[in-house]
Amino acid sequence: MASNVSLSKQDVFEKVVSLCKRRGFVFQNSEIYGGMSAIYDYGPLGAELRKNIYDLWWRRMITEREDVVGIDGRIIMHPKVWEASGHVTGFAEALVEDKVTHKRYSGNKLAEDQLGLTIKDTDIESIDNLVREGKLRSPDGNPLTTAKKFNLLMPVGIGTVEGEKSTAYLKGESCQNIYLNFKPILESMHKSIPFGIAQIGRAFRNEITLGQFLFRQREFDQMDVQYFCHPKDSSKYYEEWKAIRWNWYIKDLGILEKNLKWKRHSDQERAFYAKDAWDITYNFSGMGWKEIEGLHDRGDYDLSQHQKFSGTDLTYFDQETKERYLPYIVESSAGLDRNFLALLFEAYFEDGERVVLKLKPNLAPYKIAVFPLVRNKEEITKKAREVFDGLRLKFHAAWDDRGNIGKRYYSQDEIGTPYCATIDYQTLEDGTVTIRDRDTALQERVKISEIEDFLKSKIQ
Ligand code: ATP
Repeated sequence: MASNVSLSKQDVFEKVVSLCKRRGFVFQNSEIYGGMSAIYDYGPLGAELRKNIYDLWWRRMITEREDVVGIDGRIIMHPKVWEASGHVTGFAEALVEDKVTHKRYSGNKLAEDQLGLTIKDTDIESIDNLVREGKLRSPDGNPLTTAKKFNLLMPVGIGTVEGEKSTAYLKGESCQNIYLNFKPILESMHKSIPFGIAQIGRAFRNEITLGQFLFRQREFDQMDVQYFCHPKDSSKYYEEWKAIRWNWYIKDLGILEKNLKWKRHSDQERAFYAKDAWDITYNFSGMGWKEIEGLHDRGDYDLSQHQKFSGTDLTYFDQETKERYLPYIVESSAGLDRNFLALLFEAYFEDGERVVLKLKPNLAPYKIAVFPLVRNKEEITKKAREVFDGLRLKFHAAWDDRGNIGKRYYSQDEIGTPYCATIDYQTLEDGTVTIRDRDTALQERVKISEIEDFLKSKIQ
């Protein structure tokens, strides 16, 4: 199989975006109304792939672990949560405007892209200095306005009486209801430290930088594990979780190690309370190395802030040592959408005319496609339907009887279907079908009664 070597970096980005739309993975939200920028809907195949990532993450982080429980918290929480977390004052970026085109940008993101400088989101002054000195310009090369502090939280009005609505916020980061549920979980689930609470939840940000497809959206999902431990153990668990999450990308998503890199937050970038912070970055063709997950050694910042703002005691009492303390938190926060996008970039291959998504079979939207060799032979179609109807009760299966077999193979390759079963004249005689492998293009005959076991052995 030819590799992507001949594809330019920008090519891959554009080709993945186009494939997503053409083959029903991702659509622009509200497209018939002109679209909502940086908001996307997942189509039938995208929803399936996304759900497969979601389910696998849930299985690895929660089901298979005795020390982690999962929750499903709501999008709206008490507005004080965001004061306590620091988001009301600190969840901001320096908004600058191109003086000619009037397009708006995040000064922080421009400084990173153009000058390789990491400037704290709230440090408006440093961005202003760069603008004044002419070091920072818009991507079109024009001068910029001075920076304004712009808060990324999305407010929402709650209540039925106009004028008396109270302002809450859509979650700016999904993990906050994990901190709020720490106490009820301790009480109801009889957990003892160390243990983790995990969640896949929606987050909303009024992002300034747009036009990066799924990478930077205004509505997205985060897959979080917050691991609560004794302060003296946080460094140990931090290293453990870094290894667990690195393996997720390599072993579970099948990403090549050369396309992943650790990036440590500089002192400038790191939140003041964080003891250590690293990002896992992926080499997105056309965009370069970008964060897909953050791992933070957060100390007791979250629980102590919520304890202070709510007046509720959030300390933990260790029955054995008789010690009372505020646990430290080790956090893994991965973007589900960025995982999805990295996976597509990683899986995209071209082999001449053929486009192949080399997804691991357990992640692929369809596990198998079933074809009748020809359309006009009733017995063949009937047999193929029988095979399809049996398989689709157990595996997500596709049916295709359009065009010729070659075109159908190409069509399934492009959406990552690992196996295609063709029902032909020989099937009517000996009850076997041809199964063709997406990656090797090799074919083998398998008995209809053995297709299920064949698939099970390939899809773990
Ligand atoms: P960035 O610096 O790229 O804006 P961040 O450091 O603000 O990201 P975190 O707040 O650490 O991101 O969020 C954890 C994860 O959530 C990120 O690693 C990323 O995968 C995901 N994420 C954050 N913002 C977005 C977004 N606008 N669209 C999609 N995913 C996002």
